[in-house]
Amino acid sequence: KSFEDLKLSPELLQGLYSEMKFEKPSKIQAETLPMIVTPPYKNLIAQAHNGSGKTTCFVLGMLSRVDPKMKAPQALCVCPTRELVIQNEEVVLRMARYTGVTTASTANADSNSLSTSSSRLGKIVDQVVIGTPGTLKRWMTKDRILETKHIKILVFDEADQMLAQDGFQDDSMRMLKNIERSHVNLQVLLFSATFSDQVKDFAMRTIPRANYIFV
Ligand code: AMP
Repeated sequence: KSFEDLKLSPELLQGLYSEMKFEKPSKIQAETLPMIVTPPYKNLIAQAHNGSGKTTCFVLGMLSRVDPKMKAPQALCVCPTRELVIQNEEVVLRMARYTGVTTASTANADSNSLSTSSSRLGKIVDQVVIGTPGTLKRWMTKDRILETKHIKILVFDEADQMLAQDGFQDDSMRMLKNIERSHVNLQVLLFSATFSDQVKDFAMRTIPRANYIFV
């Protein structure tokens, strides 16, 4: 198995090889990437630890789906902490280096200022948006700077940690409902190191027809 088998764009392969210096997919990547990046894009619930290479799975998922020419959010990654938002944004920036895809994140957004480009209309024009649930929800509803109508892929990273925090499950569910209203084919990926009853419950209610992967 190689990254070439996945029909990724030359720009993404260049990011993997020259920027990330990855030679071949890790176990979880070999198992999930065919489902994630090639049609029909599957929903996924994956049990995966830090260190397994899970970040690459969902970052490639997002980057292979978005169109850099379209100046609107098309992929959304929801994370439990600011630290993880920053980490994931860094990986996206590196893998996207040759693609022209840009990102926005909630990490520097304390004062309503976006970390990257936002248009004169005050809407996010980046293809990939990464953030914590509360701020993302506020951007969608109250601030109205995050349009959801072009979002095709939604990622929940470290779902177990996320759902352990009060209010996050609520915000995440509401966000999903919000996005789903205008999408027939939204792809949802959920990664979790452990599966408590709470995570299982959330995953089942949230993600229809999901494939379960345990690595
Ligand atoms: P993660 O589990 O996503 O946090 O990744 C753990 C570490 O493995 C990170 O430092 C990645 O850069 C690295 N990594 C992920 N995928 C690969 C790969 N296919 N080949 C080599 N290193 C990788």
